[in-house]
Amino acid sequence: MIKIEGVSKTYGNGAPALNNLNLDIDDGEFVFVVGASGSGKSTFIKLLLKELNPTEGTITVDDVKLSKLRSRSVAKYRRKIGVVFQDFRLLQDRDVYSNIAFAQRVIGVAPREIKKNVSKVLALVGLSEKYRSNPNELSGGEQQRVALARAIVNKPQILLADEPTGNLDPENSWEIMKLLDKVNRQGTTVIVVTHNMEIVEKMNKRVITMKKGVKVSDSKVVE
Ligand code: ADP
Ligand code: ADP
Repeated sequence: MIKIEGVSKTYGNGAPALNNLNLDIDDGEFVFVVGASGSGKSTFIKLLLKELNPTEGTITVDDVKLSKLRSRSVAKYRRKIGVVFQDFRLLQDRDVYSNIAFAQRVIGVAPREIKKNVSKVLALVGLSEKYRSNPNELSGGEQQRVALARAIVNKPQILLADEPTGNLDPENSWEIMKLLDKVNRQGTTVIVVTHNMEIVEKMNKRVITMKKGVKVSDSKVVE
């Protein structure tokens, strides 16, 4: 479970990018975080990944306070979290298989296991036949499906998607959302930051709305 208590983040001497955020996300939830540009969404993601530390407040994940993590434990903590970005961030000089296998190699999975796991996630995203393609031979939608396969191959507890459909047309956007829903139904907590309100409305999930660093609504909380 993710517990965010009184979290504020101020860069330099500007206005707070996040201002006294309080939020609980249970295991297995699917949550959208929406808000205009500059509302604090990226800051929220960076805090969860411990790429940034809060100026005030506490973030607790599975009863571990992120502020207490020593630097060598941060890498291990991040293994709990798979991340998908707007711009895919695939390695261009490696094929699809290798892009996904790489994520497993860095955590020391045995080669035989890697083969099995990569095949499994490629089948899940419907790209089994593209495993020898290079990212530049794939459409945007296919590249995002590869990025999603890479994000889940290590079986993260949490999947963070930062504007995952920002570079995709409506059909491919919907395809990615259906896959995120599938991953969620298999037990992964999914957090999606997006501007795509059409999709948010269609998905009918919990929606947290941010405005200038403040949480202005949370569909889970009855007000
Ligand atoms: P969003 O992702 O919703 O666009 P951000 O979290 O990127 O919002 O930004 C929230 C606020 O913090 C904005 O006013 C932005 O300009 C500011 N901000 C973000 N990152 C930095 C930074 N590294 N240095 C200074 N200000 C920043
Ligand atoms: P995205 O929302 O696509 O992640 P952003 O525009 O929020 O991208 O931020 C891109 C990078 O610039 C981030 O590393 C962010 O921290 C930094 N950044 C954003 N706003 C500012 C700002 N006002 N001053 C300095 N750095 C910023």
